[in-house]
Amino acid sequence: MSTFRFKALEDVLDRKALQVETASPKISDYFSSRVFHMGKMREYLSKEALKSVSEAMNNGTRIPRNVADQVAISMKDWAMSKGVTHYTHWFQPLTGATAEKHDSFFTPIGDGRAIERFAGENLTQQEPDASSFPSGGIRNTFEARGYTVWDPSSPAFIMGKTLCIPTIFISYTGESLDNKMPLLKAAHAVDKAAARVCKYFDRNVQRVHSTLGWEQEYFLIDSALYNARPDIQFTGRVLFGHNPAKGQQLDDHYFGSIPERAHSFMREFEKESHELGIPVTTRHNEVAPNQFEVAPMFEEVNLSNDHNLLLMDLLEKVARKHNFRVLLHEKPFAGLNGSGKHNNWSLATDTGVNLLAPGKNPKSNLQFLTFFINTIQAIYDHADILRAHIASAGNDHRLGANEAPPAILSVFIGSQLSATLDDLEKSVKAGKMTPDDKTQLKLNIGKIPELLLDNTDRNRTSPFAFTGNKFEFRAVGSTANCGVPMMALNAMVAQRLNDFADTIDAQIAKGVKKDEAILKELQKLIKSSKPIRFEGNGYGDEWVKEAAKRGLSNLKDTPRAIVALRDKKAKALYADLEVLSERELDARVEIELEKYRMQIQIESRMCGDLAVNHIIPTALKYQNTLIQNVQGLNAILAKSAATKATKTQLEMIQEISERVQVVKEKVYEMIEARKKANKISDPYDAAVAYCDKVKPFMDEIRYQSDKLELLIDDEIWPLPKLRELLFTR
Ligand code: ADP
Ligand code: MG
Repeated sequence: MSTFRFKALEDVLDRKALQVETASPKISDYFSSRVFHMGKMREYLSKEALKSVSEAMNNGTRIPRNVADQVAISMKDWAMSKGVTHYTHWFQPLTGATAEKHDSFFTPIGDGRAIERFAGENLTQQEPDASSFPSGGIRNTFEARGYTVWDPSSPAFIMGKTLCIPTIFISYTGESLDNKMPLLKAAHAVDKAAARVCKYFDRNVQRVHSTLGWEQEYFLIDSALYNARPDIQFTGRVLFGHNPAKGQQLDDHYFGSIPERAHSFMREFEKESHELGIPVTTRHNEVAPNQFEVAPMFEEVNLSNDHNLLLMDLLEKVARKHNFRVLLHEKPFAGLNGSGKHNNWSLATDTGVNLLAPGKNPKSNLQFLTFFINTIQAIYDHADILRAHIASAGNDHRLGANEAPPAILSVFIGSQLSATLDDLEKSVKAGKMTPDDKTQLKLNIGKIPELLLDNTDRNRTSPFAFTGNKFEFRAVGSTANCGVPMMALNAMVAQRLNDFADTIDAQIAKGVKKDEAILKELQKLIKSSKPIRFEGNGYGDEWVKEAAKRGLSNLKDTPRAIVALRDKKAKALYADLEVLSERELDARVEIELEKYRMQIQIESRMCGDLAVNHIIPTALKYQNTLIQNVQGLNAILAKSAATKATKTQLEMIQEISERVQVVKEKVYEMIEARKKANKISDPYDAAVAYCDKVKPFMDEIRYQSDKLELLIDDEIWPLPKLRELLFTR
C-alpha cells in the first residue's frame, strides 16, 4: 500500500476515537425552528399583512409595497434574534445547483455609526451579479441583467448566520433562468385543470396541489480517501478501479444495521433538516456497500423540491464535519447499484382528498379512475418528453444498468388495477347504457379499495409505478433537481386533464349524462394508452424487444434523449400552458447539451491525466522491479535454472508493456477525438461526438488499467482501491 494511501486509512482510524454522543431532545421541540413559516408570521404580522401574504402564497397575487416592508422588518427581527447578520436570495439557476449571494443587514449611516436594515425592496427583488450563470443565449442577445424575485410560497429559513429567501431567477425581459419558475407555473396549470375536472365529482373543490415525496440515495466515503482520488473529486465517480472481491452480491448491506459512524452523521444532518422544516422521516442502508437513503414526508411540490435541494446541500456540509464526503452521483461505482431519486407524486385537493387514492364508494372511485387513467394517458402521450427531462451524463450510466429502471418509460399499475381497467374497457358498451349496465359498473368500481389493499406485488423494475395512492417516478437521477421532471409531469397531466374536460363538457352539451360521458371517455383512454402499460420484468431483454414492437422509445443516451424537447409537441405542451416559451425551452436544451459535453470532457481529461501521470509511471516502476529481479536471478543462477525462475516475471514484464502501450495509445486517440469534437459548433452534434467518439475510450483505458491494478504491487498503487472506498467505515 502506498504511503499516501496508508496515511489516508490511518487518518480514518484515528478519527473513530473522536466520536461523541450527545443527548437528543424531542424532534417536535425544534422542528422548523429556523423557518419563518406561517405560524411565525402570525406572531409578527398584522392581520391585513398576514392576509395578503397568504393570498400571495395561495393564488400568486402581488404583495403591496407596505406589506412587503412589514414582512421584511419582521423577518429581520426574527432572524436577528437568532444571531443572523446577513441575508441572501436563494435561487436555482440552470446549472442544476442552488446559488446565493450574501448581503449584510448592517448599513453604515455616517459619523462612524451603523444600523441593521432590511426593507421590502431587499426582500422582494435583487439583482445578483449573475452574468456567468447559463442562460442558453437568453441574456446574450437581450439584456445581461438577471433578477431574483421572492417566492412567498416557500418560507424563508436560516442557514448558519444567513437568512435565506427562496426566489425565482428571471432575465430583464422576464424569461425564466431557473428551475423554480416553470415548476410554479406547471403546478398552477395542473391546479387549474385538476380543479376543473374535480367539479364533475365535488363542487367544493377550489384548488388542487401537486404533491412530491422524494427518496434521496447517496454514498458516503471517507474524506481522506476521497482526497486521494482526483477522479471522484472532479467527476463525482471513479474512472478507475477494479471491483472488490465482495461487492453487493450477498445483499448484506441492504436494510442492514447502519454503521455507527454513518449513523452519527445521519443524526446530525437529520437534526439540521428538522430545524429547517424538512420533514425527513426515513433512513436506511441501500443495496451497495456504503450506500444509504433518506426520505421525508411528502409536501406540496414546490416546497418539497426546495427541501430536497436544501437537503443535498446539508448532506455535503454535514458530511465534511464527520470527515465523510457524500457522493450524489448516479453511478459512482460501475458494477454496483447506482443512486436514484424516486419522485413520489400525486394530486391533493383543498378538501383534503388525495385524487390518486381509491375512495370508499363508486363516485369517489370514478374520480380516482379519472385521474389515474388520465395520468397514464399523459405518460403515454409524452414519454419522450419526460425521458428528456431526466437525461444527464450521470443518469446515462444508470438507466438500463444493474438494479435500475431501463431507459424505456412504461407504467406499472399492479394486477388488480389492470383487471379493473380491463373490466371497465369491456363493460362499457357502445350506445346508451342500460340501468343494469350502470349498476354492474358501479359495483365493479366500488370494489377497488378492498382489492388494492392486498395488491402487494410491487414491481421494482418499473420506471413509473403506481404504488397504492401515488405514482412513483423512479428513473430520476440522484443529483437531479426534481423541479424539472415535476414540471414536466404536472404540465403533461394538466394538458391531458384540460383535453378530458373539453371532451366531457362537449358531451354534456350534447345531452349525454355526465357519468356516462366520463365512463365512455375513460374507456377510450384505457384502450389508447395500453402500449405504455407493462407489468413484467423491466430489466429483461424481452422487454426491450416487446417495447420496440409497441413503438415505445428506448433512448439510452443524453443527447438523443434531450432533442425530444426540440419537437413541436414539446414546444406546444409548454407554450400552451405558459410554462415555458419556445425560446425558454430552446435555451434549456442548449444548456443541457452543453452541460453534457462539458461533463464528458472533464471526465475524459481526468481519465487521460490519471492514466498517463499515475497509472503508467506506477506500472513502469513495478516493471523495473521485475526487470531487476530477472537480472539478479540471471546473475546468480545457472542458465537452465534461471530460465525457469524468471519465466513468470518475464511474462508479467511483457504483459505490463502491452497494457501500458494500449493505455498510452488510447489516451492519444481519445485526445484526438476530443480535438475533433471541440471543433463542432452545433451543440447537439458536439454532444453526440462526445458521446459516441470520446466516451468509449474511457472504458477501454479503464479496462487495461484495472488489469494492471491486479498485477502490480499493492504497496505502490497510487489510488485508494474500491474495496477501501467502499468498506472503510
Ligand atoms: P419505497 O417503498 O419506495 O421506499 P416509501 O413508502 O418508503 O416507499 O416512500 C414513500 C414516499 O412516498 C415517501 O417519501 C412519502 O412521503 C411519499 N408519499 C406518500 N404519499 C404520497 C402522496 N400522496 N404524494 C406524494 N408523495 C407521497
Ligand atoms: Mg421508492
